[in-house]
Amino acid sequence: MLVAMTKEQQLFQLHAQLSQQELQTLKKQHQFFCPQCSEQLLLKVGQIKIPHFAHQKNSSCHSLFSEGESAAHLLGKQQLFQLFKKLQLNPFLEPYLPSLKQRPDILIRKNDRQYAIEFQCSPISHDLFRQRTNGYRKADIIPIWLLHTPEQFKTPGMFKISINHTNAQYTQHYKSQKFLITYDVGSKTFYYASNLIHIHKRQYFALVNVLPLHHQHFPFLIPEKISNAKFCLLLSSFTKFRDQYLRPRLLLSKKGVKDRFLRAIYEMRLTMASLPAFLGIPVRNTNAFDIFCLEWQIQLFYFMKCHELTPGTMNLRAIPYFFEWSRMELTNEREMAVEHYINILRKLDIHHVHEKIALKQLFDVLYDELVAIG
Ligand SMILES: [Zn+2]
Repeated sequence: MLVAMTKEQQLFQLHAQLSQQELQTLKKQHQFFCPQCSEQLLLKVGQIKIPHFAHQKNSSCHSLFSEGESAAHLLGKQQLFQLFKKLQLNPFLEPYLPSLKQRPDILIRKNDRQYAIEFQCSPISHDLFRQRTNGYRKADIIPIWLLHTPEQFKTPGMFKISINHTNAQYTQHYKSQKFLITYDVGSKTFYYASNLIHIHKRQYFALVNVLPLHHQHFPFLIPEKISNAKFCLLLSSFTKFRDQYLRPRLLLSKKGVKDRFLRAIYEMRLTMASLPAFLGIPVRNTNAFDIFCLEWQIQLFYFMKCHELTPGTMNLRAIPYFFEWSRMELTNEREMAVEHYINILRKLDIHHVHEKIALKQLFDVLYDELVAIG
C-alpha cells in the first residue's frame, strides 16, 4: 500500500518524488500504521518494487494489501493517481470506507458522482467481485475495474483473443458496445479490447487500440465503433472459424445419429459445401451458451422443420419449448440470443435452411444489429 497513518493520526502518502534519502529518514524516524487495522506497518524501500508499506508477516488484517502487493499494482496506482490529479479530480488513494469495510485503490468524484477505481493485477473470484461491486453500488459509488494488460493484448490490431472467466467480469458496456479496458504499467498505456465478438468458450474477436496515459480522460474514453469494412473482415474470420469447427465435427463424431447436431445436418441434407452463411453467426448473448453458435442455430432450424415452422411463423413464446425439445438448459440470456437470431433471420427474409442470400446482405444486417444500433 502507498498510504499509512502516522502516530499523529495523519494520513501519509508515499509519492514518486520522494528521494532515497528522504525515504531512509522516514523509515528511521517515523512509525506508520495501517488505516484499517491499526497494526504497525513496515516501510519498504527496496530495489524491485517502488517504496511501499506492508504489513508484518502473519498479520491478521483483512485489508486487500495484507498479503503483499505486486510491483505492478503499486506502480499502477501511483500512475493512475497522478493522472486523476492532473485531471483535477481530487483523487483519494486507498481510502478506507468503514461502512463498506472496503478500500478501493482510488476514489474520485466528478459531477457529484463518486467512482471507485480498482486496478486488478491478480485474479479475484466471481463471488468477491460481486460482493465488492454490490458494496459500492449500495453506497452509490460507481466501480470501475481496470485490468492490468495481459500479454496477448499488447499489440494493436484486430485478432482473436482469449478472455478467461475472471477477466470477462471486467467487461464494460456502452450502448451495444462491449469492451475491456486494460492498463499497462510498463508502457504507461491503456489497451482497449473493443468490439468484442464472442466466438466460442473463452475466445473472442477484438479490436485492440492503444491510448497513452496522458491522453486519457475521465470518465474513461469509450472506444469508437468499428467501421463496416472492418466489421466485414471480422465476420469473414468468424466464418473461417465456423468452417474449421465444422470439419472435424462432421468427421469425428462417434455418437452417429444419436448426435443431435449431426442428425439435424443429415435430416436437412446439409453438407460442408452447402452450409448457408446465416447458420453459425454471432448474435447478442451467444456467450450464454457453452456450445458454439452453429450447434444451437442448426438445431433451431431442425426444430422448425420438424414443426413445420419458418422464422417468420415461429412464435417467440415457443422458444422455451425449443430448449426443452433440444434438451438444452433454458436461461434468460439464452432465450434472448435465440430471439435475436430469429429476428435477424426475419430481417433477412429467410424462409428455409436452403435459402440463398448474398454475404453482403448478411453482413450489413449483422452490422446494424451488433454495431450500429445504440
Ligand atoms: Zn491492516
